[in-house]
Amino acid sequence: MPTYAEIISIGDELLYGQTLDTNAHWISAQLDLIGIKVKRRVTIGDVKEEILSAFKEAEERADIVLITGGLGPTNDDLTKPLLAEYFNVGYELNESALQEITDLFNKKGRELTEPNRKQAELPANCTKLSNSMGTAPGMWFDERNTIFVSMPGVPYEMKDIMSAEVLPRLSERFSVGVIIHKIIRTVGIPESSLAELIKDWEDALPKQLKLAYLPSMGQVKLRITAIGDNKNELNEMVQSHLESVLPLIEKYVYGFDDDELEKVVGETLLKNNKSIAFAESCTGGYLSHMITSIPGSSSYFKGSIVSYDYDVKVNSLDVNLQEMEEKGAVSEEVVVQMAQAVRQKLNADVGLSISGIAGPGGGTEEKPVGTVWICYSDKEKTIAKKFNFTRDRVLNIKFSALAALNMFRIHFSSN
Ligand code: AMP
Ligand code: MG
Repeated sequence: MPTYAEIISIGDELLYGQTLDTNAHWISAQLDLIGIKVKRRVTIGDVKEEILSAFKEAEERADIVLITGGLGPTNDDLTKPLLAEYFNVGYELNESALQEITDLFNKKGRELTEPNRKQAELPANCTKLSNSMGTAPGMWFDERNTIFVSMPGVPYEMKDIMSAEVLPRLSERFSVGVIIHKIIRTVGIPESSLAELIKDWEDALPKQLKLAYLPSMGQVKLRITAIGDNKNELNEMVQSHLESVLPLIEKYVYGFDDDELEKVVGETLLKNNKSIAFAESCTGGYLSHMITSIPGSSSYFKGSIVSYDYDVKVNSLDVNLQEMEEKGAVSEEVVVQMAQAVRQKLNADVGLSISGIAGPGGGTEEKPVGTVWICYSDKEKTIAKKFNFTRDRVLNIKFSALAALNMFRIHFSSN
């Protein structure tokens, strides 16, 4: 008998047509990979009676019920209390969930709020599923012959929980064989261009290997999944395909599996016994935050000058005022001076500088919002590059910091 799953997507926004239900689509594809058959997908609003009856109907039909949405810390999100009601249990504080939420807040430099603390209180009969991307833990209920899994609606959080927690459990439980994942992390190339580069390789993949593109914030992760019975054989197959795809995309690959760009940059500096300093304008310190979120960064990070104002650029980074007035603060001339000066003033081997128009105001025809100049400088060379990001302020800040780290990755050489 095949194993049957049902997917329940919860959220008023899905019914209003404001948000496309990409979760159900993605989950279906993942279940298909491991031989679990999706029998039905249901979309409902944030309405108590609808949710409870969807649980009941799904339990009658399916072996596995996968639920997304309705796990936010606010009152409109009902999934957790309704699961507790459905299974007739109370809440318990889950210490490990609380620790993970606290760590996440510390990492982001934010104070833990009461509503977020409450997210660590879970129905007493569930197993917590770690959410490394957000504050709402997933939940796994194993009662009465049907497994219920509840996950947040935010797609990247759901994907994280599915990949790390749910799929391994399901494949073990329903003995679908061995599954191996290998993730290649790329930066600086959009998903569609990446797909073009590896099209022939992808078309020739054996049927045991599946490829997924996981894009997020200026990066694309390529996940190779191998499914079969023989672990060694699968490992070898993944390894040989990895070796044949890497040369095609070498320029863009910065790491594998859990590597993050800031971590890879830090490791490179450490290995080469080199140090780095930043001169940040539009990112306001975000780049420094990224590099210092890696433990041990004091070994290679000298510091940063956040030169938001003209005066600071002139007084602290010796930027030539006349030139800045002529060319603008967002210009090649200015970022070059910023990177060279910060490297010397902070006595670092490498200087990175960023100056751009984050928006929403401040754009011109010639330099629209999203225009960002970034410069890499070391003792041998100084290289500046112009980027055109988005119209969104926060995205521009994040893209800029990422691009600066990527410039380091591209231009740093150990000699
Ligand atoms: P929630 O867990 O209900 O707080 O969902 C948080 C956000 O995730 C929503 O505001 C949506 O933007 C998004 N979201 C929720 N459900 C889905 C879904 N099925 N597919 C894609 N995005 C979703
Ligand atoms: Mg919701």
